Amino acid sequence: MSLALVGAGREAAVSPKLWRDDFPILGERVHGKPLAYLDNAATTQKPQAVIDALAGYYAHDNANVHRGVHTLSQRATDAYEAARAKVRGFINARQAEEIVFVRGATEAINLVAASFARPRLAPGDEIVLSAMEHHSNIVPWQLACAATGAVLKVVPIGDDGAFLPEAYEALLGPRTKLVAMTHLSNALGTVTPARWIVERAHAAGVPVLLDGAQAISHLAVDVGALGCDFYAFSGHKVFGPTGIGVLYGKAERLRSMVPYQGGGDMIRTVTFEESRFADIPYRFEAGTPNIAGAVGLGAALDYVSAVGMGAIAAHERELVAYATRELERIPGLRIVGTAKEKASIVSFTLEGVHPHDIGTIVDHAGVAIRAGHHCAMPVMQRFGIPGTARASFALYNTLDEVDALVAGVDEARRMFR
Ligand SMILES: *Cc1c(COP(=O)(O)O)cnc(C)c1O
Repeated sequence: MSLALVGAGREAAVSPKLWRDDFPILGERVHGKPLAYLDNAATTQKPQAVIDALAGYYAHDNANVHRGVHTLSQRATDAYEAARAKVRGFINARQAEEIVFVRGATEAINLVAASFARPRLAPGDEIVLSAMEHHSNIVPWQLACAATGAVLKVVPIGDDGAFLPEAYEALLGPRTKLVAMTHLSNALGTVTPARWIVERAHAAGVPVLLDGAQAISHLAVDVGALGCDFYAFSGHKVFGPTGIGVLYGKAERLRSMVPYQGGGDMIRTVTFEESRFADIPYRFEAGTPNIAGAVGLGAALDYVSAVGMGAIAAHERELVAYATRELERIPGLRIVGTAKEKASIVSFTLEGVHPHDIGTIVDHAGVAIRAGHHCAMPVMQRFGIPGTARASFALYNTLDEVDALVAGVDEARRMFR
């Protein structure tokens, strides 16, 4: 392919130039080239507003929460609870107490596996998940199964990576105790029919956890409309800090659950004979929480709301369509995951070139992508490949960056020819 053809026939982007200026790291140069950061499914970059919120919290408000009567402690507590209120609004939960702060999606899922699933599982009971889950939505359930004798039932996916509704319905049975399903696959970009998945499960009396680690920054997430019992996501994948995440749980579900960890802040009274646990959500927030992280996450969600999920989704649709079209012109390149319902991610293989070599070669052109199994080894097994190269987009990416990716991948092809 000739570079002159790269970029032919592309439409005007929404306004990524404006958004780019909000993210200082995007001005970095890598190997002397402008950084093209296309690894957003692994983690997203942070707008200045988030960096300022973190610094501002530490510069002006830092103290421990829920304990002191002094002014700073009150300010820190107010900031922490204001962040919880922002999360509630962002995902349209009914009450702030349905928002549990955790370290990330992984911890949120482990919390549900340990505190909700384990006490309810008996030998032969079934947990339904899909063949495109992230390891974080597989291994916690395997641990729960190992402890209880329950078993996993895996909904297969189509050759295009699509969710298969009939296969899902066929797996919902009298022994199903929980459905744990991704909302957006990090390996394929497939968007699942989450609302319908919840409806079908609820019709069978089965609660549902949705893994929203990817969806949260690409789709409008409304837990009220979805109807799910639990929703898990990480702050760092939605332009917030690492080390902070959210478990949303319906209040009645959370109230029915035993604590996940014991310690300070999660109790009402403690004697050596017994401890009485605090109300939700504090019951699940043992120890000093990531206060600054929560504040940063609140700022990130404010930022996303100001940009608007509609504008983000439209811009990313254009990037995915353009990247797909341009990459497919490279001889020997195959896109893995071409489901109709798809967002923000383009996974691909290149004949004769290992994904890691693609990643290294495009890095020299300043392009950051991920190569490997993307913490979803069963997906790779499903397609009979060791891994893929994956470009994943966010609101600040541009068509020029896609051009840099395509040129880099074409370079890799020529080097290995
Ligand atoms: C990243 C990711 C996770 C795990 O998130 P952590 O931040 O590592 O806890 C879970 N599921 C999906 C779909 C992901 O993309």
